[in-house]
Amino acid sequence: MAPRAYWHLLVWSVAMKLSISVVGTGRMGSALARALLRSGYRTTVWNRTKQKAEPLATLGATVAGSVLEAVNAAEIIIVNVSDYQATAAVLHDDAVASAIRGKLVVELTSGTPHGAREAAEWFAAHGASYLDGAIMATPDFIGTDAGTILISGPRQAFDANEEMFRALGGNVQHIGEEPGRANALDSALLALMWGALFGTLHAIAVGQAEEIDLGELARQWTAIAPVVDGLVVADLINRTNAGRFASDDETLSSISPHYGAFQHLLELMEARKIDRSVVDGYDAIFQRAIAAGHLHDDFAALSQFLGKSR
Ligand code: NAP
Repeated sequence: MAPRAYWHLLVWSVAMKLSISVVGTGRMGSALARALLRSGYRTTVWNRTKQKAEPLATLGATVAGSVLEAVNAAEIIIVNVSDYQATAAVLHDDAVASAIRGKLVVELTSGTPHGAREAAEWFAAHGASYLDGAIMATPDFIGTDAGTILISGPRQAFDANEEMFRALGGNVQHIGEEPGRANALDSALLALMWGALFGTLHAIAVGQAEEIDLGELARQWTAIAPVVDGLVVADLINRTNAGRFASDDETLSSISPHYGAFQHLLELMEARKIDRSVVDGYDAIFQRAIAAGHLHDDFAALSQFLGKSR
């Protein structure tokens, strides 16, 4: 294509894209703004501490002098600040609240399901569409194929802006109309993630106490990871879903051998004076289940002892 024709096409395609404002340009907000700019969106940014937004100007963003200016500049307002209290501090202002009427607000700040429902009501009362999202990625994944963001709220608002969501990550999914859904799934997935992260810290403490090379620990963990994946999905999740807690032909291991091996770990930790903060929780769950007669049930039977406090 002739350079002149290409230039016109580029100008046309940028002009056809929606204007988006990103409110909050910390680590994550800046990554969101960069991804939008890379995809050719006219992007305005605002941050309480203006210096943090300024580097985005060199990439083509307009740095707004106030939240009101940012809201007025765009059809879609993406919010990414530290928590919902910060969002309220920024948007619950008479002039800003009237400026968001008729616009779409996408809240990508982390929060609780309850917080998302309250926010949805507040934005509906002020005439704005509202989608609430949970970012399941670090900033380096934003704008890549592996970037996951879960979105809940009106499906039509998501579908109408799917192209913009694709710019933020290859796995940006609408997971339900109920506004608290994304934050609920976020918390459940984080519980899983922290289990793995705190489990790793615990394994490091045990490994170091026994002078195991941590590289060796990493290699052997990688080797047994498929075993753990099988237990997580096939055993714990599928069985809990079906309420199949009694041992049967498909049981991979009952509570009994786990509890036996757990005693070996406790003994080692006692001998090496390793902190028990993490294992005390496991021990309490094991003991409640065993006292209730589940020693020879499938390991998944433990899930009955972690739900609502009894
Ligand atoms: P960050 O770098 O600490 O940025 C926090 C942002 O919130 C800054 O822009 C900060 O403004 C703003 N802020 C805080 N209180 C405010 C207030 N009262 N009024 C106005 N602005 C306020 O944090 P981050 O890593 O970008 O995280 C932002 C959100 O993304 C959080 O909800 C976090 O849970 C979520 N998230 C982050 C990651 C991650 O890997 N980083 C992953 C998933 C989800 P100043 O610059 O003026 O302080």
